[in-house]
Amino acid sequence: MPELPDLVYIKKHLADFLPGKRIKAVEIKEPIVLRALIPEGFEDGLKNACFQKVYRHGPFLTFTFEIDVELVIHPMLAGKFKIAERADKPGRSMCFSLHLDDGSFFNYLDDKKMGKVYLTKADDYDKIPRYLQQGINILSKKFTLETFQNLIAKQRKQVRVFLMDQTRLSAIGNAYADEILFDAGLHPKTFCNQLAAAEVDTLHHSILRVIKWGIEQVDKAAKPIDIKVRDHVKVRNRKDQPCPKCKTTIRRAGVLGHDTFFCPSCQPAKRAQFITWN
Ligand SMILES: [Zn+2]
Repeated sequence: MPELPDLVYIKKHLADFLPGKRIKAVEIKEPIVLRALIPEGFEDGLKNACFQKVYRHGPFLTFTFEIDVELVIHPMLAGKFKIAERADKPGRSMCFSLHLDDGSFFNYLDDKKMGKVYLTKADDYDKIPRYLQQGINILSKKFTLETFQNLIAKQRKQVRVFLMDQTRLSAIGNAYADEILFDAGLHPKTFCNQLAAAEVDTLHHSILRVIKWGIEQVDKAAKPIDIKVRDHVKVRNRKDQPCPKCKTTIRRAGVLGHDTFFCPSCQPAKRAQFITWN
């Protein structure tokens, strides 16, 4: 579930809550999601550690401690974080629970068990797939129009595939990829090399605008961090509903195995694609 705006919100919440709290006990329910990259293993490695800082790095959340280990979590599609005041019934999605010294619990839940939880030596990310390969942080000042023009130049992928390529842009997921393309008025199957210069500029602008809007909307909803906030989205998962701009029925299509949602009027296919795709 967590996409960039969700992770920004979750990170902020956890960075307020966790620092200074010490882990009294480590309760593991789903070892399948755990990757201990230190010899002590997950439980011994974390027990008695005191949380220091929380960072976001692309789709990862990284937690530092006063000792030389870091907890790095890639929640993938379904990972959720939860702060509980008392021990919940574990439920099927519970992967692990860290019992904190103030009596609260920091839980990681994952229905699909696709997320990955690494315990590594501090600053040692070599063995964490995709950690060091993240592209430009789209929330950073470095993500300028010129940088974006250089990144997309000579790309032959479909634009939606390009948006979700985390080695280029870190990090856009399925929901906001659809929202960005809707905002930019681009059909998701447009190839990058079919985009006019003005469309590239619009796309850069839409990335910034839509992600900022997503962050504001998730913040405004002010839900607990384990709740997915998606009421604000305009096309994602809205198949057969009217487009909020023009009332045309929103469609769903597949792009390289991912569902994509778009308005066929606001996001018309480029001419070459009628030949290729229909
Ligand atoms: Zn429309």
